[in-house]
Amino acid sequence: MLTVLVGGLSVSSGAESVRAQQWLRGNTHTHTANSDGDSPPDTVVRWYRDAGYDFLFVTDHERITDPAPLNARFGVPGRFLLIAGEEVTQLVADSTHPDRRRQAHVNALGLTRVVTRLGERGIVQGISLADAYARNIAEIRAAGGIAQVNHPNFRWSVRLDDLTALPDSTLFEIWNAHTGVNNAGGVDAAGRVAPSAEALWDSLLTRGKVVFAVADDDSHSFRASDADSYALTRPGRAWIVLRADTLTDSAILGALRRGDFYASTGVTLSELAVTDRAITVAISPVNDSRYTIEFIGSGGRVLATVHDRRASYTIRGGEGYVRVRVSDSNGWMAWTQATRMR
Ligand SMILES: [Zn+2]
Ligand SMILES: [Zn+2]
Repeated sequence: MLTVLVGGLSVSSGAESVRAQQWLRGNTHTHTANSDGDSPPDTVVRWYRDAGYDFLFVTDHERITDPAPLNARFGVPGRFLLIAGEEVTQLVADSTHPDRRRQAHVNALGLTRVVTRLGERGIVQGISLADAYARNIAEIRAAGGIAQVNHPNFRWSVRLDDLTALPDSTLFEIWNAHTGVNNAGGVDAAGRVAPSAEALWDSLLTRGKVVFAVADDDSHSFRASDADSYALTRPGRAWIVLRADTLTDSAILGALRRGDFYASTGVTLSELAVTDRAITVAISPVNDSRYTIEFIGSGGRVLATVHDRRASYTIRGGEGYVRVRVSDSNGWMAWTQATRMR
């Protein structure tokens, strides 16, 4: 008999009890003027609250923007919650890279004290990128936080080998809405291929890693006056939707640790049900958009494609894992976590 894992969590109670919980929308990657964002925390937090988000992590570089006074001003019990975060902005010296360094940025979500990056001005010498990830993720966990590996293709820094030792239940940014992060991967003039962030995720899942996909804003720009920049980096373009029974720090962080969420750039799911026999998704349609639902297994192989607003996949048992990707006719996407068969 199959044991089905939803993210990292074994589900034995069927879909009904899961569906009774709330769907909550949030952003896990946000900057304010406390680091390199263009607006003070008040402006940033108000923007997300007024845009209808349920929760927000402000993740300024190398510091925690204190959520307490911001929650006192902008928090709404049961409707909007700010949770502590930090982006640990690690650079690793590498004489073979054109920049002479590679970037290994990791968000810390829900941490209780600042995590200090390694090295002078954040540039550590003489250790591998994988070791830098291992150290910083261990520090983030020791500080009570959840680690999220950010934008692997930023400055073409991160390779699959750097990621294969990530601890289970790490979050992984497969879509970052900031400009210049190369989500889709690319090929250089010498023919070297850098896979998309989504393909890197499939490679990790294929190796048996329990890594959860995130889409987020990495927002820096809240001033409409800077029109060109704003068009590229404005907030509200990528998020996650998770399931929790209440809007509290512990409920949100618990759902993140379990992988009980999906990632989106605009597609909303009205149903996501996983049993030991089938995975079912349904979409809340927008206007006359058309939808493609793909069920994807080990190696990134497409197991089934359905052109409809609802689809079910019957689990056969040899897929390794099954995840769902939804694409709409306007380019918006949603990605569920992988359901793993053991
Ligand atoms: Zn970053
Ligand atoms: Zn960032």
